[in-house]
Amino acid sequence: MEGINEIRKVLSFPRDIVIFSHRNPDGDAIGSSMALKLYLEKSGHTARIIFPSEFPSIYTFLPKTDDIIIFDFEKKKVEEIIKKTEVIFFLDFSGLDRIDKMGELVQDSNAIKIHIDHHIEPEPFADYVLSDTKSSSTSELMYDFFEYLDNNKNIDKEIAECIMTGIITDTGSFKYSTTSKTFLTASKLMQYDIDLNELQNKIYNSLSEKQVKLIGFALNKRMELIPEFHAGIIYLTKQDYKDFDIQRGDTEGLVNYLLMIKNIRIAALITEQPTIVKISLRSKGDISVQEIARDNFKGGGHKNAAGGHAYAKLESVINKFKSILPFYIKQ
Ligand code: 5GP
Ligand code: MN
Repeated sequence: MEGINEIRKVLSFPRDIVIFSHRNPDGDAIGSSMALKLYLEKSGHTARIIFPSEFPSIYTFLPKTDDIIIFDFEKKKVEEIIKKTEVIFFLDFSGLDRIDKMGELVQDSNAIKIHIDHHIEPEPFADYVLSDTKSSSTSELMYDFFEYLDNNKNIDKEIAECIMTGIITDTGSFKYSTTSKTFLTASKLMQYDIDLNELQNKIYNSLSEKQVKLIGFALNKRMELIPEFHAGIIYLTKQDYKDFDIQRGDTEGLVNYLLMIKNIRIAALITEQPTIVKISLRSKGDISVQEIARDNFKGGGHKNAAGGHAYAKLESVINKFKSILPFYIKQ
């Protein structure tokens, strides 16, 4: 990694460190952030994780999640921390708009900035960058970073589980975005005695009755297919959020059901949030949803998994998605 010698010097004595990841943090955001926090603490640093918004409650099985600071709830405290911090890590996002207002706050900070990520088109805002768009996850890159830093000397079972959580969630349990290195890294992590079966149960088989019923409702009442463009949509209204008491993370994975249908190659989950409409996109094969999200929904991500948003009515976002299909997909 370019600059690793300088980073090693920066981290050669105890530092006050902040770790940022993106709004609506997912398993990779949380896994990579927590792995880094635990790793740095073992070297005597103070490391705080700050997320713009809350994380899904299923991830509370990971260590120290109570310590995570949520900007939405503690704006003043975060502003103070950013002013004082000496080193900032940015994990699992490519542009500062993904950390909301904090993006502006860190631009004024003199802290040393380190960016570790696997999203397409990373913006140049950091002093040191470890970016690999071929990597399954930021968590996989975290393992590499620890190796570059000091030969992984601090990795233990807890840290290995955090990294593995990020790899599992960003690859859908090793179904997509994997390379031979992903499996090599997973293999090395398994040497720390991870109970993979139990970990997968914690991640995927920990839903509430309400969440499973929501899946049934969404598939039964909120799914629409556009066969001529191999596309599928699931949408959820504000009223659905009330009726099913939908919380953060409850819609995770819903979009993937569309891709289970033969011949469906692009899928959208379109949800009506309090102020925005969020769109989650997934595709099979050569369709780049990253381009679709970037060009039409102020978003981005990866070729086969991307997201964005619009300040518009739910119906108009659904219609917009349908109307752009001919430009991206052959009939
Ligand atoms: P999800 O659909 O699960 O929210 O996100 C899928 C992928 O797209 C993730 O890698 C995520 O970081 C990225 N993504 C989701 N929403 C946005 C967004 O609003 N802007 C950008 N740039 N990326 C997004
Ligand atoms: Mn990721």
